[in-house]
Amino acid sequence: MGFSFQLKATCPTTQARAGVFHTPHGVVETPRFMPVGTAATIKGLMPVQVAETGAQMILANTYHLHIQPGEKVVEAAGGLHQFMAWRSPILTDSGGFQVFSLSELRKISEQGVTFRSPRDGRLIELTPERSIAIQNALGADVIMAFDECPPYPAERGEVIAATERTTRWLERCIQAHQRPQDQALFGIVQGGVFPDLRIEAAKTLIQFDLPGYAIGGVSVGEPPELIHEIVRATAPILPPDKPRYLMGVGTYREMAIAVAAGVDLFDCVIPTRLGRHGTAYVKGERWNLKNAQYREDFRPLDETCPCYCCQNFSRAYLNHLIKAREMLGFILLSLHNVTELVRFTQRMRESLLQGTFSTDFAQWLEAEKI
Ligand SMILES: [Zn+2]
Repeated sequence: MGFSFQLKATCPTTQARAGVFHTPHGVVETPRFMPVGTAATIKGLMPVQVAETGAQMILANTYHLHIQPGEKVVEAAGGLHQFMAWRSPILTDSGGFQVFSLSELRKISEQGVTFRSPRDGRLIELTPERSIAIQNALGADVIMAFDECPPYPAERGEVIAATERTTRWLERCIQAHQRPQDQALFGIVQGGVFPDLRIEAAKTLIQFDLPGYAIGGVSVGEPPELIHEIVRATAPILPPDKPRYLMGVGTYREMAIAVAAGVDLFDCVIPTRLGRHGTAYVKGERWNLKNAQYREDFRPLDETCPCYCCQNFSRAYLNHLIKAREMLGFILLSLHNVTELVRFTQRMRESLLQGTFSTDFAQWLEAEKI
């Protein structure tokens, strides 16, 4: 039981590190990409397939599970691990990000956020206490503080107000948390695209001595260069002996640069979303499998990929499935895409353990200050 984070290797030229995060449901070897199972399912994939991708920890969304089926059902089923038959680590977000995206439907106050359910129009209030109570009922290994995520672009004053409120809400989250022994509460650094506000927020946050820290409020429409700048300013402030999680980021370059800055965990809906649109991630590129060029291409998607899709099927078959809108096509591409992003982070880990990270990943880090 309990949580700990051990560093296994650090890069001599960057801030990158390889670690092991221990949770009540097993270990997460970092750096690691975490696929997103919004409604307690990684869309299209059975848990046994998700495990085969090498994903050790997955995400589920508090907001979606609160609306459907409701945390009471999940709790009565024995918690999220039991309900969705995923026995490995799970992280739930706080619902804040989704609620703040509903700009038409919400009202924010110091108490929390009130919004109309997009499903049936009923009024729902999400507060720090409520978010934590829902996450306690869902039972994930890692739960997230309820934060205010300002939009991009936003005025500096607006970002300062949101960041300060996030700190006040964190105190309420800590007070409300009923299961600290088997659920690690991570705090979230906000601060928009202002590095000085990020640094200040990170310094405030670490005083709470939490079991892990996240960099949130990125990937909200800002250019990637600003994400790099935010991550470089923030990650080194966070304690080296705790896991660091960059929320909502899952592109090759952004992950490599964040790892070089000392980030350990990532999540993104992109691999399954792209899969459902007939797009594959192959060797750092996006391929649209609908294209005619694959019609008679009998090679696997990626001959170096160990996934069930690449081991058994050709690009021509995938092209056919996608054009015929067959379910299996979207499933196979989702399986490959999740495997590909997890493998990318696993390769970074291997390079870190061998001391060759900055040269092995130079193509993703070059032209960037490390
Ligand atoms: Zn594959």
